[in-house]
Amino acid sequence: MGILQDNVLVLNRSWQPVSVTTVRHAVVQVYLESARFVDAESFDTFAFDEWIMPKDPEGGAGDLEAAGKNGRFIHGCAWRMPVPEVIVLSRHNGNSGFPIRFTRRNLLLRDHYTCQYCGSQPPPSELTLDHVVPRSRGGVSSWDNLVVACRRCNLRKEDLTPEEARLKLLRSPRQPRWEELQLSRMGDHLPASWRIFLARRFRR
Ligand SMILES: [Zn+2]
Repeated sequence: MGILQDNVLVLNRSWQPVSVTTVRHAVVQVYLESARFVDAESFDTFAFDEWIMPKDPEGGAGDLEAAGKNGRFIHGCAWRMPVPEVIVLSRHNGNSGFPIRFTRRNLLLRDHYTCQYCGSQPPPSELTLDHVVPRSRGGVSSWDNLVVACRRCNLRKEDLTPEEARLKLLRSPRQPRWEELQLSRMGDHLPASWRIFLARRFRR
């Protein structure tokens, strides 16, 4: 457990976020030269040998002090290295995004645990999934037709369309992008260094 299990954002060669891995796996990938560490402020990238630094402070590696500004280090006997938060793949481009599984949990994440009709945020156990076009009218269970709803709104809607129930969707449902779910999943725990990469993708 601990630092080696922390999350590292993985960018493809085009600097688009493609996945999240552990610190342990990120370090191995960089060691094997299939990725480089990223300083999220300067956008400088570092090979394994450039990232690791001698414990002796006289040893230099001034640039890396910046990279380790989250203040956290992995310590070896005679070396230390900043805990990486972002890596960029150097060999293959990676798919842009995982296939996103169609699950209740991912629907909750997409809709931020918020009733899509009234905006309330009851405890997750009290949230239901509502078919926008009711199943009795041929509505299917899909990203485009399922939304999170509180019990009250779900009850009010019954087998009606939103218009008939006089309910308005906060936004029309669609398949979420991988990084949207990631943002939602991590909430306040999202490292500051990730934001720019995730946000950049959003603007497209
Ligand atoms: Zn509601």
